[in-house]
Amino acid sequence: MFFRCIILINQYMSEYVKCLIIGAGPAGYTAAIYAARADLKPVLYTGVLDGGQLTQTTEIENYPGYPDGITGLAMMENFRRQAARLGTDIRAGFINRVDFNSTPFWLEIDSERSILADTVIIATGASAKWLGINSETKYSGFGVSACAICDGFFYKGQVVAVVGAGDTAAEEACFLAKMCRKVYMIVRRNQFRASKAMVHRVSNTCNIEVLFNTETEEILGDGLNVTGLLLVNNQTKAKSTLSIDGVFIAIGHKPNTEVFEGCLDMNDAGYIKTMPGTTCTNVAGVFCCGDAQDHVYRQAVTAAGTGCMAAIDAERHLANSNFILKESISLK
Ligand code: NDP
Repeated sequence: MFFRCIILINQYMSEYVKCLIIGAGPAGYTAAIYAARADLKPVLYTGVLDGGQLTQTTEIENYPGYPDGITGLAMMENFRRQAARLGTDIRAGFINRVDFNSTPFWLEIDSERSILADTVIIATGASAKWLGINSETKYSGFGVSACAICDGFFYKGQVVAVVGAGDTAAEEACFLAKMCRKVYMIVRRNQFRASKAMVHRVSNTCNIEVLFNTETEEILGDGLNVTGLLLVNNQTKAKSTLSIDGVFIAIGHKPNTEVFEGCLDMNDAGYIKTMPGTTCTNVAGVFCCGDAQDHVYRQAVTAAGTGCMAAIDAERHLANSNFILKESISLK
């Protein structure tokens, strides 16, 4: 009751918007572009990493429309400029608390101010899990990657390693095996976690070699690029070095959805559930797009596609709900 009173008091002091977008990756900015053109006057909070995961990659060659490739940073700057030019109010800030029990929805920013919204588009993305060793950060984008589809092409004819033993690692290894000379899989237990079908594919690919009971102690480099791995066999404790040109860390992803726990339906891994073929969550008026709801494709172009869908879903929701569309106002 006390908490609800605080929320009600806060609501009187809150700014009010038609469409609030959370997240500044391809999904969030695409939703913003479409929402702005639909005159929803979107407000977008960028969260911690303006530009999302793409800002941590180097060259992007598989996003349509860039025949010569583009860096992740430059591409996300383009997304941002386009969303801003069309009228999106882009703000730095992290949504740390939400109340989706009644409309307008209530959201708290940076634990210090709040906002009310008729519709919310969640585009908070996912974060790759990393090993947590210093050399991994040092060579990120220079031989260390978390996406074979994005970066595999740069290692054509070379030798690479994939760390992990789940379906993602197995898929990445098989994908890389088509273009790389040799692929090592570094598996920390004596067995895979991946499905039988994927293990079968790995076993039947002659240029994949699996190193079981093996952990990565350090990623080695020449100061510019990755040159190898320092490995340890966790049974014998024997250390060895492996010469490679690139390493793909495939030990899972974590959707950035903690703040919505208990408010929205999610699967066991924390991905927000959406109705098939839409971006609708189980709360009418709250939509989710991009990697926060997609553990299968996880590509910039698919994230952008679902961002477009979310803005269209939000616009239709407002039209169907017969909302009296008020202008964004600040009562502060
Ligand atoms: P998973 O959580 O399934 O697997 C993670 C793997 O990384 C495990 O083998 C784990 O080892 C290993 N790992 C974790 N931490 C470390 C570490 N510090 N050092 C070394 N290895 C580590 O993640 P995935 O991304 O593979 O899959 C996530 C979900 O998505 C799964 O449900 C999967 O089935 C699904 N998926 C489905 C696909 C499809 O249907 N085509 C494709 C890709 C994913 P350990 O086994 O020892 O715990």
